[in-house]
Amino acid sequence: MKDLHSFGWYASRITPHLSKDFFKPVPARLWGGFAYLLVVVAGLLAIGLFDLHIIINIVIAGVLGASYAAMGFLGHEILHGTVVKTAWLRNFLGAVAFWPLSTGPRLWRKWHNMNHHVHTQHDEKDPDAWPNHEKWIQNSLLRTIYRLPFGVRAFFSFLSLSVQFSMHGLKMFIEYIKDFNPKNRPAVLLQTVLPWATWIGIMFWMGPVKWLFAFLFPLLIANFIVMSYISTNHRLNPLTPVNDPLANSLTVTVPKWVDVLHFNFSYHTEHHLFPSMSPKYYPIIKQHIKKMWPERYHEMKMSNAMKALWNTPRIYYKDNELIDPHKKNTFGTLGNGLDGAKQPDPEVMKKTV
Ligand SMILES: [Zn+2]
Ligand SMILES: [Zn+2]
Repeated sequence: MKDLHSFGWYASRITPHLSKDFFKPVPARLWGGFAYLLVVVAGLLAIGLFDLHIIINIVIAGVLGASYAAMGFLGHEILHGTVVKTAWLRNFLGAVAFWPLSTGPRLWRKWHNMNHHVHTQHDEKDPDAWPNHEKWIQNSLLRTIYRLPFGVRAFFSFLSLSVQFSMHGLKMFIEYIKDFNPKNRPAVLLQTVLPWATWIGIMFWMGPVKWLFAFLFPLLIANFIVMSYISTNHRLNPLTPVNDPLANSLTVTVPKWVDVLHFNFSYHTEHHLFPSMSPKYYPIIKQHIKKMWPERYHEMKMSNAMKALWNTPRIYYKDNELIDPHKKNTFGTLGNGLDGAKQPDPEVMKKTV
């Protein structure tokens, strides 16, 4: 592995080339959130108040799912403090944006800002990192799952993307609640329970069948959209002893209009270098990174990243490889045999140990 550097090492070398304005919050980002909020309220009222044809309900469910996901991307940005600086307003707006995904701001900031960002791709400390071979040996459920044929496993792991964000959020709540100061725990609990209470309340208002279109199906769609990004952000990269975003993060590329709808969430390496900067500026940060460290930077078309994800197991082996443990096939990670610029070819990636 090349010598690794911390995110601060890279940031300090890019910062002199940037205007001071890049480090100011950008409240105008809230207009996008406001537009999504209007769409969501209109969608919920349309389903709740009228008896619409099922096809129309399905279309509205799709729009709601896409809006719930996009609001989550904005919530992520807000809770990094890049939209407003005032703490209570930041938490309030973050809570509203994350309401559909039922993620409370206090829990999110602990899980994401204080752990995922600080310890990215560290095998023990990153709450979002996937297990290594040693953990697989110790975990009987994982060992059983990996006995399934590769295609079946890949299919179910993709299907699980439609629930993974919500399930992982629940796991984070159980894992982290004890780490909060006892006097803050009721607030953390309330921030998790209140959104769910609202959604269950809406079920009583509109009835369970309409609720499927207003909440449950959109939630599955939103989970799939956010997880399509989250799963490609780091899962094709190696585990790294030093938190080096150029080694352990991937920027995916999507059409420009998708970046507009998703608040530039695709620029994940840039985000790990400058988490406190508005994603509005990430396309410029990308140019600087590509000029200064072109050989280290990883970017991949979203569709290729998803294909590579489908074709590889999710157990790390010696940090730099992924292993199908029963067959003992290994696959390279980004920077270690997997090339983001090329179409992933599972046969080329495979190697037997
Ligand atoms: Zn990340
Ligand atoms: Zn972040």
